[in-house]
Amino acid sequence: MSGLVVAMDGPSGSGKSSASRGVARALGLRYLDTGAMYRAITWWMLQQEVDLADQRAIAERSGEPSLVMSTDPDAPGVTVDGVDVNGPIRGPEVTGAVSAVSAVPEVRRRLVSLQQEIIAESLPGGGIVVEGRDIGTVVAPDAPVKVYLTASADARAQRRTAELTGTTVETQKAEMARRDTLDSTRKADPLAMAADAIELDTTPLTLDDVIAEVLRFVKERA
Ligand code: C5P
Repeated sequence: MSGLVVAMDGPSGSGKSSASRGVARALGLRYLDTGAMYRAITWWMLQQEVDLADQRAIAERSGEPSLVMSTDPDAPGVTVDGVDVNGPIRGPEVTGAVSAVSAVPEVRRRLVSLQQEIIAESLPGGGIVVEGRDIGTVVAPDAPVKVYLTASADARAQRRTAELTGTTVETQKAEMARRDTLDSTRKADPLAMAADAIELDTTPLTLDDVIAEVLRFVKERA
């Protein structure tokens, strides 16, 4: 099982993060949360007071922050210019702004190339589970295992609400619908299922079921 790449794509609340970490742990692989990278660069743009309505301004500054990722599935994380931003990147300010930043082609070009470097570095050690929106289509199109996770709008909003404080299922449902539309209609690398991915609807499944299903698929393909 040397050099395995497992691509896990899908919208927010589909269960990607927990499933990806579980699969990485079970197989002794690294884990990369690419959403955290888009969130981290968005956090930096907000700190710098870059006008997020101005795509050119975002593009011009996108090369400045230095991102370092932890790929340990038991302790994933990101630092920006040496600052641990794992708390703030999950807050409503970053969540509300991230789709505008991730739609900018220069941001994507930079992060995709960083992601490809991290994947290449993981291969001698066995490989990596990578979660995001465009992993199977753009970041790792040759990955032997591609999974596209979905779930009903209600299930996704309920899961996300349980992870956060001070919010409601209705608010989360609206926020997710807004982000889904932005992420799947943008020109640069939109959220899409790869032609050779398996689609897994996690609505009726427990986390252990989802992990078992992905592991079964890995055995089949890898
Ligand atoms: O997965 P998560 O909700 O943390 O992702 C945050 C945002 O980052 C997404 O809504 C999307 O705009 C962007 N993203 C992306 N491509 C990826 C991963 C995330 O555009 N591979």
